Amino acid sequence: MSNWKSAVVDADRNKDWKVRLKASLQDVHWSESLQSIVNKILDDEQLDASDGCILFETKNLNELGHLANLHKLAMFGNNAYFNSNVHINQTNICVLACRFCAFRRGPKASDAYALSIDTYLSELEKFSSFVNEVHSVGGLHPEWDVDHYCSLFERIREEHPHVSIKALTAVEIKHLSQVSNLSIKEVLIRFKDAGLTSLPGGGAEILDDDVRQVICNGKESSQEYLDIHEAAHEIGLPSNCTMLFGTIETAKQRVEHMIQLRDLGHRTNGFQCFVPYPFLPDSTRLPMAQLSTGQEILRVIAVSRIMLDSIPHIKAYRMNIGDSMAELALQFGADDIDGTVKQESIMHLAGSKTPLNYGVNQLAKLVTRSGNIPIKRNTTYSEFEEFVPVKEPRRLPVV
Ligand code: SF4
Repeated sequence: MSNWKSAVVDADRNKDWKVRLKASLQDVHWSESLQSIVNKILDDEQLDASDGCILFETKNLNELGHLANLHKLAMFGNNAYFNSNVHINQTNICVLACRFCAFRRGPKASDAYALSIDTYLSELEKFSSFVNEVHSVGGLHPEWDVDHYCSLFERIREEHPHVSIKALTAVEIKHLSQVSNLSIKEVLIRFKDAGLTSLPGGGAEILDDDVRQVICNGKESSQEYLDIHEAAHEIGLPSNCTMLFGTIETAKQRVEHMIQLRDLGHRTNGFQCFVPYPFLPDSTRLPMAQLSTGQEILRVIAVSRIMLDSIPHIKAYRMNIGDSMAELALQFGADDIDGTVKQESIMHLAGSKTPLNYGVNQLAKLVTRSGNIPIKRNTTYSEFEEFVPVKEPRRLPVV
């Protein structure tokens, strides 16, 4: 692949995006509440938590979306990104039991599974000729250690050298460091040497320990999540970051979550993409959750884009929000819709109905319908190619 390349730190973002943004902001008559935010942007002032709360409270969603979209246009023009990837969840056995999680199983459950390395590789083999990324996250298996994952990554690299490995959330890294009695940094260095390309951002939920205690007691703390990503960035492993919203958090806690990630991004330049997704309730244990409406999803996407100037890409994760919302989100500040995915359990067990049989042509159509130009990218947002429709395999395996 590659019509063009970009330094990982830019991730295809226009270098002069702030100049472009300021020029476009001048032409608009803003409401009083947003004018104060726009003034700060024009004066190169960093938005703070109270600005973020104003964005969440502003009544006019279309105006908020317009402000976010002007940010997106200044950064990427009409480009919107996707990749060819497959998800393989290596195990659903987990020693924790987060209340929002519909995926985990205890080791004795009839549908508990743990893929051997050979089974994992034969699963990847089915997709390998038309993907360039495998995304793997899973439960905290009580016996698998760092050596197990090093063997897995080495075999993937050996047998599918064109496939980037984006794997293991922060809590999995923490768990493996405990099982193998190694520091976080030692674990990350071992994985990088074995072939790991980047970390997905899962597990951030809301970076507020009071919220975490209710929705995911026992998981890594907010600070541990940040420390693990910082350690990854320090050794040259880029990562994504996420936010699970629509459980019990307040708008202020969402904003503070974003600001913690933004500040880390400013220090390390290691975040590639922010992925906000709403809580899906099926088979979970959070009856007190305040489920998000469609408007709320678009609002979160828009606020993310405006607040997170240190994280280039904002992802509309169609596996969670569905295709129609993803298409709309591309007009509310998002610029990326993830990838082909092909098989997905974590969101679908919680209630997602997003189709899994999409190929690159269908993803490109979704992007085009939103008024954007479909651009294929690699995992690390360093290589890009304008999409040209391709002849896809007739029968793609769907799980
Ligand atoms: S969210 Fe992750 S850590 Fe929590 S129970 Fe589910 S699989 Fe385990």
